[in-house]
Amino acid sequence: MSAKTAGATPAPAGQKSGFRRMTDAEAIEAYEQLSIHELGRLAHARTLELHPEPYRTYVIDRNINYSNVCTAKCIFCNFKADPGDAEAYILSFDQIGEKIEELIDIGGTQILMQGGLVPDESDPHGHGLPFSWYLDLLRFIRDRYPSIHIHAFSPPEIWAFHQVFGMTLEDTIKRLRDAGLATIPGGGGEILVDRIRDKISIGKTRSQEWLAVMREAHRQEMKTSCTMMMGHIETIEERIEHMRLLRDLQDEYGGFTAFIHWPFQPDNTPLGRWKRLAVEVESDAGPRGRPRNDGRHLLLADAHEYLVWLAISRLYFDNIPNLQSSWVTMGPKIGQLALFFGANDMGSVMMEENVVSQAGATYRLNEAEIQRLIVDAGWRPQQRDQYYRPISVPKRERRTVDGTHRATGAQMANGAAGAAGAAPPVGGIVQLEVRGQPSAPQAAR
Ligand code: SF4
Repeated sequence: MSAKTAGATPAPAGQKSGFRRMTDAEAIEAYEQLSIHELGRLAHARTLELHPEPYRTYVIDRNINYSNVCTAKCIFCNFKADPGDAEAYILSFDQIGEKIEELIDIGGTQILMQGGLVPDESDPHGHGLPFSWYLDLLRFIRDRYPSIHIHAFSPPEIWAFHQVFGMTLEDTIKRLRDAGLATIPGGGGEILVDRIRDKISIGKTRSQEWLAVMREAHRQEMKTSCTMMMGHIETIEERIEHMRLLRDLQDEYGGFTAFIHWPFQPDNTPLGRWKRLAVEVESDAGPRGRPRNDGRHLLLADAHEYLVWLAISRLYFDNIPNLQSSWVTMGPKIGQLALFFGANDMGSVMMEENVVSQAGATYRLNEAEIQRLIVDAGWRPQQRDQYYRPISVPKRERRTVDGTHRATGAQMANGAAGAAGAAPPVGGIVQLEVRGQPSAPQAAR
């Protein structure tokens, strides 16, 4: 594939004449033959076509892991607890409400709420939940915090509800939606190839089950995101297979708002202890000199690989409008650079995260820092909602997560400036004090 050929891949939505969708073979060819510079240039040109707006976006939300109890045994996860474990927990509604209060204080607009695959109430250790608990939780949040968008329950959780509680998938999603669920996060996809899921996602949804949840949600006109965890035991062909399944599903209903990919974080995980690819002996180095995984060993993705795959994703996903930067796993500088490799969104200012942080991701950014990264990259920072619409949110009296209060000061700097179309004076933006770990959707997200 030449750079010229790879670049001739505009999107179906609003595509220009001459559009031709990138094939799987062309994606692999582009990966193997184009340099990171060529891929970045092509992906950025495509991003500018799709997103000519003068801003790049971010969202303020809070990750609430309502429970770590999980019956699955994903070997890339260091978050879960077995039912009966001493560290197993289920948050109360009051605890969840307190977290939402703190989110509202800093101008947050949504929660990303997920847990493990919790058994039903017959669990002998007292760590099970009835389906009514989830519905009551959604109603509690919707009724008490009507301004908060509930982005919750990844496909593996919803599939588990469907199975454990004996309801059709259609009814499961309908009941969750009627109780207040607004959108569904795309977690738990990892790589949608059962060869891989059988090895790393044990006891969790198979590929077609994950897709079935999303298809049903989209059929009911719910929006969702989609994700990919790369840089473990997958081959390049399997990455493309994953992306083709997402692109094909997107052709059916157009329900994916965004694609988010990130490299597997190996620390403290069983998968992280797998035998790593001995590059000099076992790899089949491609034309770009990059090792190619044989599908049996661990081959982690570095910053170069992350950016290369971001660019491939932008060129391949001609029907998914938004790509997020994964600064949580890649750090602020690579996260900023991602804006030139296909990303148009900086993801979340998150107040709390419990999953990836336990697997090695340690980066933290507050709202002002994310705004600074966007400004320095040449765009205006713009807060958005879950549908990627620009919003301006007044913040209440500033309160930090540890409960202390501070004045709001120039709290409207980002929103007001955003509405006016001018870059906000970053130095004057109120410094949000956001405690807790950053987030990235490694596990059931
Ligand atoms: S990734 Fe999710 S489903 Fe898998 S073990 Fe961890 S909490 Fe459970």
